[in-house]
Amino acid sequence: MQACGRCEALNKCGLKDEGLFDLCPKLKTFEDQKKIDTGSNRTNSVIDYDILRRYFGYTEFRQLQKDIILDVLKGNDVLVLMPTGGGKSLCYQYPSLLFKGLTIVISPLISLMKNQVDSMRMNGIPAEFINSSQSYQDILKIKSALLQNNIRLLYIAPERFTVPSFLSFLKGLDISLFAIDEAHCISEWGHDFRPEYRQLKQIRQYFPDVPIIALTATATPKVRDDITTQLVLSNCKRYLASFNRENLIYYVKPKQDAFRQIVEILRTKPGESGIIYCYSRKNVETITEGLKSAGFRALPYHAGLSANQRSQNQEKFIKDDVDVLVATVAFGMGIDKPNIRFVIHHDLPKNLEAYYQETGRAGRDGLKSECVLFYSYGDRQKIEYFLKQISNEKEKQIAQNKLNDIINFSETNLCRRKLLLGYFGEDFKENNCKSCDNCLLPKEEIEATTEIMTILSCIDEMDERFGINYVIDVLIGGKTSRLLQNGHTSLRSYGSGKNLPKKMWHGFLRELIQRGYLKVEGEYPVLKLSQKSRDILSQSKSGVKNEKIYLVKPQAIEKPIKIEQDTPDDALFEKLRILRKTLADARNQPPYMIFNDASLKMMASRQPCTPEDFRKITGVGDKKLESYGGIFISEIRRFCEKQDSCGYPVQVKKQSSESITLEMLDQGMDLDEITLKRNLSLNTIYLHIEKLILSGENIKIETLIKKEKAELILSALTETGGEALKPVKERLGDNFSYGEIRLVRAMMMKKV
Ligand code: ADP
Ligand code: ZN
Repeated sequence: MQACGRCEALNKCGLKDEGLFDLCPKLKTFEDQKKIDTGSNRTNSVIDYDILRRYFGYTEFRQLQKDIILDVLKGNDVLVLMPTGGGKSLCYQYPSLLFKGLTIVISPLISLMKNQVDSMRMNGIPAEFINSSQSYQDILKIKSALLQNNIRLLYIAPERFTVPSFLSFLKGLDISLFAIDEAHCISEWGHDFRPEYRQLKQIRQYFPDVPIIALTATATPKVRDDITTQLVLSNCKRYLASFNRENLIYYVKPKQDAFRQIVEILRTKPGESGIIYCYSRKNVETITEGLKSAGFRALPYHAGLSANQRSQNQEKFIKDDVDVLVATVAFGMGIDKPNIRFVIHHDLPKNLEAYYQETGRAGRDGLKSECVLFYSYGDRQKIEYFLKQISNEKEKQIAQNKLNDIINFSETNLCRRKLLLGYFGEDFKENNCKSCDNCLLPKEEIEATTEIMTILSCIDEMDERFGINYVIDVLIGGKTSRLLQNGHTSLRSYGSGKNLPKKMWHGFLRELIQRGYLKVEGEYPVLKLSQKSRDILSQSKSGVKNEKIYLVKPQAIEKPIKIEQDTPDDALFEKLRILRKTLADARNQPPYMIFNDASLKMMASRQPCTPEDFRKITGVGDKKLESYGGIFISEIRRFCEKQDSCGYPVQVKKQSSESITLEMLDQGMDLDEITLKRNLSLNTIYLHIEKLILSGENIKIETLIKKEKAELILSALTETGGEALKPVKERLGDNFSYGEIRLVRAMMMKKV
């Protein structure tokens, strides 16, 4: 019989038999280990919800996490394709707790490593990083801990693989898994190629038997294939999660006065974190300044700032010292901030991939977040102008196609999510995603055949030599000097569109361009008729009746949209946020490392006042409970007490007297036991239960009142009108108490 390398018992954990690679639950308690020893389905027992709860504070695995973890534990190579915020880290962090040897995590950015390691430690998982920022002494200490197998996770940068002495040090360790984060950095096809990542090919060479898990949020198939080839992943299974970011709401707004529009958005989001992406540094600067003078806490970020200034600004953003970062696309990689509530694109991104990546930085924590793209025809022309400067024809064509895709996305009247996912080859089945502007506010279409004819005839009459604004002026019968000079007041079309406002014509014209009825051409863009509209015109001239044509009703575009949000107590959330910030500052850490917004919101709505209840909050594991439970619970209690003293809110609170009664009922105590234990009158306990029933708790009344008795009470209640207790009591007599009647009445009212 073989001894398990980890617990040293003679095949006690028996996990090898199950085809699971070399693992043993050393970090689990003795009791847990026994469970695995005797468990009938051992493979499943490795997926242990207790570990998930204790070390991560989660109650459930997310989409695919469980399957991936099992595969990793079996020692297979895997490729994980999951969107940002999907929960990739757990796929190697969880196995690291069960493996006999070390898990090495390759991560591209030194700046992120410290955060990741800190957050592991805060969850009670021994983790370290080795990088160039540390002293020789520090590294020696870590190396010694590694040799003693005291570390579960080691984070390193890919450059380390160029150092031969480091490689031979690794060779001497017992390594169970390599996790390669941001694996797309290895591919030249990706948007984020990093030559250092090419060093990772050596992993297979030096450690042929150690499994590799590669993880990325890259959505393009070409890069995915390249990762497998470059890393020589053998027979690797790909886990492809949906790239749908359910919590992101996509809007495209016509860009009119972008700064004012941004300010309007920010006003609805006080204190929330967000990024505003701009095309140019100049825009970044002017918008930042504008926002600052309008009273917002904003900072710039672009390649023109010194490295020092950039990292200072980024740091302030991460630590919630400022709310808004106005940035060029230079910003983003290496941002792990989970509570970014909005990403605004002041200008059109260069392609849909970039747009997906940039908006993807919002809402990592799974809470609802908004992505707003400002779109104008002028922006489109600006990019087209730059594209024309590309001399290589093939490159130019690729760039033009990519631009067309993002333009399609911006101009579509269909579900934007469907289009975005479709671009990445994913078929989003639903027709209404309920969280893009087009689905939330379907645009009203109207029959616009007459208006279209008016527009087409006007352009035709002027020999297709004028731009949008001029055409509109002619339609509405404007009196600009240019129009007068050209003698266009005598045109048949002059004033033919007087019946509608300018804005409406603008909308129609824009849509006709989108739908291919009109083209915009030339250095000074003029409107040209397409073949489609020539056909319509000639049909009409020859007296053939045109088909009806529908267009989106232009005014519909700017209606405000209301989104339903969870409603935690805002005041408490604010208090908890301040507490979190104070604690984080004292530890020089970003606030989200303590708890993320999702945890804080749950605290604010559930208001847990005991360690047991606090433990149920997502993100609260054993270690976090120990480190922060006390201080957060006190804050919540103080808040609840204050609210109670002014008699508000009325609903049953978790730590109210009623909830203690509820706990006792749940434990199966009968009414006598509860009155005795609580030293309260039976009547009070009845009042508690009545309140609990009415507040929606699921009380099994049949265990408290005999069925026959309850039926008699019910019929007396019905006969007497169902409200007042006294007539019922009088009718039923001394064998029935007011308390019992109360409970039956509460059940009856709940059913109503
Ligand atoms: P990714 O690396 O894919 O961008 P992360 O691993 O950083 O995603 O996880 C994103 C967020 O989701 C984190 O805030 C994390 O705490 C949370 N998370 C991950 N897995 C779970 C889970 N099973 N239950 C609840 N929250 C989870
Ligand atoms: Zn939609």
